[in-house]
Amino acid sequence: MGGGSFVFLLRCELLFITQSQCSLINYKKMKNNVQFAINDQIQAEFESAYLYLAMAGYVESLNLSGFGHWLRLQWQEETMHATKLLDFLLKRGGKVELKAIAAPPASFGTPLQVFEAVLQHEQHITQRIHKLYSLAVSEKDFALQTLMHWYIDEQVEEEDNASQIIEKLKLIGGSGPSLYLLDVELKNRQPEAEAAK
Ligand code: MG
Repeated sequence: MGGGSFVFLLRCELLFITQSQCSLINYKKMKNNVQFAINDQIQAEFESAYLYLAMAGYVESLNLSGFGHWLRLQWQEETMHATKLLDFLLKRGGKVELKAIAAPPASFGTPLQVFEAVLQHEQHITQRIHKLYSLAVSEKDFALQTLMHWYIDEQVEEEDNASQIIEKLKLIGGSGPSLYLLDVELKNRQPEAEAAK
């Protein structure tokens, strides 16, 4: 970012103001390591979205359209999680640098195994969110800390949602009429209004 700081200094000189006054003008500028970490988390959220879309395709190929509906909503939510971070970067004068998304698997086993994989993935995302929050604290980025509170709460919900479905699948045995009834139940899932904000 040497070029960026050169432009920054040049602009200060042109304005005939001191470096501290210049810093006040440029208050929106985020630290490079914070920007990097946010871009990294955008990638992780899009990877989550891609994974859930792959899972939706898989369960729908097994004629479990309710499970597919649930996972498609999850795909949409993850896309919103990524976009929320992207919007935050832009509002703070940061640079959006999208990264490659890894291809997800095409098969995921039984419905129980699908949701065990969802839970495992969300636990991984929770660890990442906590790490990003820790960075926001150590870098004294207060705005990012506030934003991360939303993600921390969201992860509690994500893990709980996956756990509840796992428990139900264990209870019903994951096949026959009871699996059909759970599929009907999952079809009733509504989009999360909060995630759209
Ligand atoms: Mg997410």
